[in-house]
Amino acid sequence: MSQNKESKESKQCSRCKLTKPVSEFAAHRRHKDGRQAWCRVCDAIRLRAYRAGIKAAAFDAYGGPVCAECGKEGAENLCIDYPGRSPAPGADTIYQWLKRHDYPDNMGFRVLCRNCRFLHTKAPAQRKKGTERYRELRREALEVYGGRCVNCGEDDARVLCIDYTGDAAVPTSGRAKYRWLQDNGFPQEFRLLCRNCIGKRDK
Ligand SMILES: [Zn+2]
Ligand SMILES: [Zn+2]
Ligand SMILES: [Zn+2]
Repeated sequence: MSQNKESKESKQCSRCKLTKPVSEFAAHRRHKDGRQAWCRVCDAIRLRAYRAGIKAAAFDAYGGPVCAECGKEGAENLCIDYPGRSPAPGADTIYQWLKRHDYPDNMGFRVLCRNCRFLHTKAPAQRKKGTERYRELRREALEVYGGRCVNCGEDDARVLCIDYTGDAAVPTSGRAKYRWLQDNGFPQEFRLLCRNCIGKRDK
């Protein structure tokens, strides 16, 4: 009886061989017991490896893991650039889409670092959008926080973001955030990161 009860409430992961509560296994409709064979930890490891794999394959297909504009290397800095709207619909990532379409070579795909991609896509529109007051607030904040990425030294103001390491309720939208910083005397728990380095922090 206790044997039976235990097998219902726990299960051995077929990868790491640890016995864990069934709640540690994601649901899987087609499996007999309704659960994945791998525990959530192993599943996350597999997913990360899979993502890194298709990302690397896409970079290889488009000239290797190096930014086509500035020459920056390292997969964690890089992404795939394409003109216009993303061809990958819904939950599909661009990497999955490229793999399924066998890496087409006539649609303008290329490898760029996040900083260079931002300069191509979002930066021109943002520059037009901001008011003079907003630009002034932002300029002042960047200056107070040193004017360059604390991680890699990038000093192109267009790709710098203010990163927050504390836990106060700071406004997230640009204009409100810069005004908040000014009103609060530019507190120390903020730092500048470029878009490449913000990406690394998130992982
Ligand atoms: Zn496991
Ligand atoms: Zn670049
Ligand atoms: Zn940086």
